Amino acid sequence: MSVSSAGNGARQQVFVLVGGTGDLAMRMLWPSLAMLDQDGFLSDDLRIISVAREDCGTEVCVDRIGTAVTKRIGDALEPDTLARLRKRIVHVALDAAHDDWGAKLKAELGDIDRLDIVYFLSVSPSLFKPICEHIERAGLNKAPNRVIIEKPIGRDLATSKIINDSVAHAFDEARTFRIDHYLGKETVQNLIALRFGNIVFEPLWNAQSIDHIQITIAETVGVGERLGYYDEYGAIRDMLQNHLLQLLCLLAMEPPAALSSDALRDEKVKVLKSLKPITAENVLTHTARGQYGPGFADGHPVAGYEAEKGSPSNTETFVAIKAEIANWRWAGTPIYMRTGKCLPSRSTEIVVQFKPLPHSIFGPEAVANRLLIRLQPDEDISLTLMNKAPGLTAEGMHLQSLDLSLSLVKAFDSNGDKPPRRRIAYERLILDALNGNNAQFVRRDEVEAAWNWVDGIVKAWTDTHMKPQMYPAGTFGPVSGYRLIERDEGRTWND
Ligand code: NAD
Repeated sequence: MSVSSAGNGARQQVFVLVGGTGDLAMRMLWPSLAMLDQDGFLSDDLRIISVAREDCGTEVCVDRIGTAVTKRIGDALEPDTLARLRKRIVHVALDAAHDDWGAKLKAELGDIDRLDIVYFLSVSPSLFKPICEHIERAGLNKAPNRVIIEKPIGRDLATSKIINDSVAHAFDEARTFRIDHYLGKETVQNLIALRFGNIVFEPLWNAQSIDHIQITIAETVGVGERLGYYDEYGAIRDMLQNHLLQLLCLLAMEPPAALSSDALRDEKVKVLKSLKPITAENVLTHTARGQYGPGFADGHPVAGYEAEKGSPSNTETFVAIKAEIANWRWAGTPIYMRTGKCLPSRSTEIVVQFKPLPHSIFGPEAVANRLLIRLQPDEDISLTLMNKAPGLTAEGMHLQSLDLSLSLVKAFDSNGDKPPRRRIAYERLILDALNGNNAQFVRRDEVEAAWNWVDGIVKAWTDTHMKPQMYPAGTFGPVSGYRLIERDEGRTWND
């Protein structure tokens, strides 16, 4: 497939990657652009401008991009992809601290009235304001031009408002694309297909049939070089406020009236606003905070968070929360979420645990159904069903549980075919932004409703002086993380 000026009528598309030499750009964004190019999703005349502080020149910049893309994509990279991508790229050295930022970019862009510009600000959020001001002053912000921004969007409601206000001055909400890369993952998008493309789940998708839901994002790595940033944020701000709450929204939201961006996001906001506040009264039973200590994780000895930092810290590297949604569909069915660093395995999974049969004619052999949605390390969706154990036994019928798998990879494996390449989540999101579709991006009121709830938890921690409990690196968090779920009878994490 090959397209020409796909984005906006006759205007030529320009993708301006601000922070084009940075870590995120090299590991995710350039490889995503290369794959979109390889698969024919970029219009033939699309240009890419890399903007960064480094004055490395286009030649050196594209060499570095080539190395990064080759490393990330490996065998799936076709021989002529890099050559095609290179022709599109120009690198421009611009420092956001200098007033001529906008004018210099404008000179590079050419006739801006004939362009459809997508800016990706892959820089520290402290630069969003000056960069948006430069863009606006140079008149480079006019519709249809739009901007993509990455987390963190603030560290609480107040700071997120400052960031959002500074971006809103230059770009209206419809042209502001806030990335949560989890929303670009194939299995996360499949959640929408599964829930709203099938009739079988909807009648059961409520507190009458579902006992509880678990969402886990486990990382084996520690904070590493991100310690300076991480110590200010911790697990609740770094992972729960965004990725975990987005997953919770997709699981709990009402069926939207359409697949349009506002219909989807209206329903997600309603979920966030229905979350019961966690206060000083229930923070001890509804949350757990942990910090990794010495141990062994990701195949290496770990000194422990405070040893790595070199001073005491009140930052949590593990958080678990029992969330309750106060509406008719979910009252009585909690959603347990947890995330942490230096845990024993790298996995992201959702468990939807159905209730047991109201009356089992098979006795305790009939185990309750469970829907397991795995995002990492493999993408897989499986439904555990009860089945008659095949064969003849003297005692009569026995049950066994069987997994009904919706895994694309397994389906291809069994046919002996090559499975489809696993896409980088940013590919989907960059393509949507190029096409002006913001359904899978986070709207301002979503970000703010999420911060509002999270701020309440952080305040409750402060008010009750709740410190993180140490857990040995390489274990699944502190004892309080287990107690959080096991306190509720019959429930355990799906470790
Ligand atoms: P980085 O430090 O590796 O790169 C920053 C980029 O910004 C570089 O290209 C640098 O030239 C440019 N830059 C810095 N100061 C500048 C200035 N004054 N003027 C112009 N350009 C300037 O950062 P990163 O890890 O790529 O992260 C970029 C953003 O994405 C950050 O907000 C980060 O929090 C967020 N993020 C990163 C990751 C990741 O995996 N790296 C993941 C999620 C979110």
